[in-house]
Amino acid sequence: GMGIKRYTKKTPKSLEFYKEACKVMPGGTTANIKFFAPYPIVMDKGKGSRLYDLDGNEYIDYLLSYGALILGHGHPRVLQAVQEQLYDNGTYLFGTPHLLEVEMGRKIQQLYPGVELLRFTNSGTEATLLAIRLAYAYTGKNKIAKFEGHYHGGYDQVLVSVNPSIDEAGHPHQPRSVAESKGMDQYHEEHTVILPFNDLDAASDILRKRKDELAAVIVEPIQGGYIPAERSFMEGLRKLTEELDILLVFDEVKTCFRLGLGGAQEYYSIKPDLTALGKAVGGGYPIGITGGKKDIMEVSLPKAASDVFDSSQSKHSNARDVLFHSGTYNGHPSILAAGLETIAVLEEEISQINETADRLKTEISKLFLQRGIAVRTLGIGSIFNLIFTEKEQILNYRDLQSADFGLRRELDFQLINEGIYTKPLNRYSVSSAHGQEEIDQTLEAYDKVIKRL
Ligand code: PLP
Repeated sequence: GMGIKRYTKKTPKSLEFYKEACKVMPGGTTANIKFFAPYPIVMDKGKGSRLYDLDGNEYIDYLLSYGALILGHGHPRVLQAVQEQLYDNGTYLFGTPHLLEVEMGRKIQQLYPGVELLRFTNSGTEATLLAIRLAYAYTGKNKIAKFEGHYHGGYDQVLVSVNPSIDEAGHPHQPRSVAESKGMDQYHEEHTVILPFNDLDAASDILRKRKDELAAVIVEPIQGGYIPAERSFMEGLRKLTEELDILLVFDEVKTCFRLGLGGAQEYYSIKPDLTALGKAVGGGYPIGITGGKKDIMEVSLPKAASDVFDSSQSKHSNARDVLFHSGTYNGHPSILAAGLETIAVLEEEISQINETADRLKTEISKLFLQRGIAVRTLGIGSIFNLIFTEKEQILNYRDLQSADFGLRRELDFQLINEGIYTKPLNRYSVSSAHGQEEIDQTLEAYDKVIKRL
């Protein structure tokens, strides 16, 4: 459409760079999701709410690195905390226990009712991965259940039925497990059971039938960050998993700090058995956290030095008694300093961020309504999404199929041309750097663009 034509006119340096990048990385990007056709914009600088591309175009950033930058780009307090840790404390990585692990850990324990003990990881992917291993080890069972359309990271056990084609996806009440990547063994389709989200009756039928095989149910309490679980569904799921001896894992990688500081478990007043955190919890630096009930987390308790696998020792240890978890960069001091400072800032500013998102959502809806275009703005807290559909209720992956993604794509390119950035078809995240000026400028751009749609 029109949008793409002008996009290519405004971003010639991005195209030039993209061609060079393709000689270095497949698709010119280092993550599949960062690619979009005809070519992604190459950003050069970020500051506060803004991004600047190679051609010097300025954007209000609503991608915010897929939600991680809850304080925007380069928040001065976070930068200072990182710098102090990096330079003033001499060694930036100790490879030993250190004070910030306990300081950050205590904060998370206070904020997340489901986290009695925790371990640090380097990403959200690693956080859910550890949660699943803990669930297998604790229950002695070897399958998990996940919901259709939910993303928990890029590895085999959870990379099924995230975005399946409807031809392959099976009956809505009994979705099929469909691998999302080449190179995945069929084992994973067989060992990961798919559930329909926000459909307690259908999910219950599946869980009851397969309870003896299932170690855990993992769920994004807010699918994709913008389709909330209905309260009754979440409460039902908690009760049912307890009754069936299946662990409940909340994947709060997107939701942590984006509803309130206590994430979805605070919002729903539900205590999961295990919790995975990521993204905003590191204020833009790579981190993940796996936490949960004490007796589950202690499956990874090193019992004695001889029980701990160490590749430098040839002595055979009794590895099967202990759950293995490690990582050179786990609990990185500079990143924990960033996380702690992010929490400190959010304690003052989180409600303002959520209010900004609410205002934007409401005003954008109004603009579409005035033009008679059916749109749903979905989400709670500081993430939302726009779905073009006449459908009254969007409760899960199947409901999303009714949406007009072509219209959304055209809107997104036209908005990019007006200086409003999210990756086409992606959700919106809002940061503390987004204020009245950003709202006004965004609504002005929307108003202009909607008239052309
Ligand atoms: N879980 C959820 C809900 C996510 O949104 C993501 C990332 O998009 C992940 C897990 C994986 O996190 P990461 O990209 O940090 O590995």
